[in-house]
Amino acid sequence: MELTGGCHCGEVRFEVQGEPLTAALCHCADCRRSAGAPMVSWTMYPVSALKISKGTTKVYESSQNGRRHFCGNCGTGLFYYNNEVLPGIVDIQSATYDHPEAVPARAHIQVAERITWMAKAHTLPEFERFPPRE
Ligand SMILES: [Zn+2]
Ligand SMILES: [Zn+2]
Repeated sequence: MELTGGCHCGEVRFEVQGEPLTAALCHCADCRRSAGAPMVSWTMYPVSALKISKGTTKVYESSQNGRRHFCGNCGTGLFYYNNEVLPGIVDIQSATYDHPEAVPARAHIQVAERITWMAKAHTLPEFERFPPRE
């Protein structure tokens, strides 16, 4: 399987080959704060599977060994590396794939740090677009 993806503005584009080692929704506080979102979906690959086909990323040191790569123009978070905990591994933010449906999440991780209301998010009322105006 080959997947393509990129940031919101299109300055950074990438390709990834093969099957992901895993795919998970991360609820840790670092991901949350970094993304400005209640959780982040990740797919894990060997570093060799990823090729940046356009542009270059900026790197943010989000923890002692954690390195978050993002588009310096639009700010979209793309990749995560941690050479201490995950040598030879890259985590790719799966919401940046052109077809994110291709790599379904398999687990919730770091739920010890999850925002409590996220545990019941699937029970909230749903609207195809927006709620009707009253
Ligand atoms: Zn961008
Ligand atoms: Zn996380």
